[in-house]
Amino acid sequence: MDQASAGRRTRTVQIGAVTVGGGSPVVVQSMCATRTVDVDQTVAQAHQLARAGAGIVRIAMDSEKEIPAIKEIRAQTKGVTLSVDLQENYRIADRVAPHVDKIRYNPGHLHHIEKSKSIEQKVRWLVDVARDHNLAIRIGVNCGSVAPAFLDKYPGDQLKAIVESAAYHCDLMDDLGFTRFVVSLKDSDPLKVVEANRRFAERRPDVPIHLGVTEAGLPPEGIIKTRIAFEKLLAQGVGETIRVSLTLPNERKHEEVVVGHQIVEDVRAGKFISVPEFGQGLNIISCPSCSRVENEKFVEMAQQVKELARYAAKHRITIAVMGCRVNGPGETDDADLGLWCGPTTVNLKKKDKRIGFFSYDDVLGRLKTELDRLIAEQSAASN
Ligand code: SF4
Repeated sequence: MDQASAGRRTRTVQIGAVTVGGGSPVVVQSMCATRTVDVDQTVAQAHQLARAGAGIVRIAMDSEKEIPAIKEIRAQTKGVTLSVDLQENYRIADRVAPHVDKIRYNPGHLHHIEKSKSIEQKVRWLVDVARDHNLAIRIGVNCGSVAPAFLDKYPGDQLKAIVESAAYHCDLMDDLGFTRFVVSLKDSDPLKVVEANRRFAERRPDVPIHLGVTEAGLPPEGIIKTRIAFEKLLAQGVGETIRVSLTLPNERKHEEVVVGHQIVEDVRAGKFISVPEFGQGLNIISCPSCSRVENEKFVEMAQQVKELARYAAKHRITIAVMGCRVNGPGETDDADLGLWCGPTTVNLKKKDKRIGFFSYDDVLGRLKTELDRLIAEQSAASN
């Protein structure tokens, strides 16, 4: 499907050999969940995703130690369009740039580093890097890591904060005369994704949008959540490239791409299979994993949490399961119960309060206790 036929025509952005926007067919992309320093595994997964139909393959990086690996990955994936996710270390962009086709930066992660420099200076430097190396940029805004300046400016209105943050970074690009960029506004709640992207598309109809429901979780629920957002937006012509984020073991990671193509095809054919009442009961969110996962038990843990919590299906409770200690703590703050996985232990939280660290074997028992307690509290409150 192309978005021009759905009534929207953005500017064109060239990313390596791939054209996004300007009426081109929707590009389905995906991301490696392997450790980037493991060149063999990452190369294998990049090919696995590309074979399944990923137009762009993203690789996460946030350490200088990964630079030799990306050079080697590039050498072994010549036909694949590569994007790099700079995560929390935009400073490595200039050394990564010769080996990729696109860089993604998160506006919410620019303030941590080089505090004496302004955001404008940092963005100008990233644009210079992109220009020097013939790269595209994605401004990747995420509800879990909104720039503090925008949260402070719009207290209690996170949606406005993320839309304004994205629009501000577009203005910076405009001031620099740089047009080769796309924007994403992601959240784990599909309805927020719809609203944020709808508002942004109205504000900047010229800018191609990368759609994503972050931490959608395990299939099939993760697919349903993604469909709720993508079907609505794609049908309105919003979304020039998409990424489906599912919690899957590495050997099944390409299913994200298969699902993405299926959604695009279904929307083109007018087949909509969203479940309107979905999300009324138990909601389990889990991240799609990436190179930051430090214990491969993470995906199994997410599956075990889903099994364990089945009995609470009718209760309006959100459980978040995250794969690392970098984003895990922040991304679980809004959940009723949150787990984030470290190298040897799992941290269990109730909202933003820590309950404690537990071994991978012991955490499920404690989770059950906390879940029972929460259900009892909800029942007492409703009586
Ligand atoms: S929570 Fe951590 S492991 Fe999961 S996708 Fe985000 S950065 Fe990667």
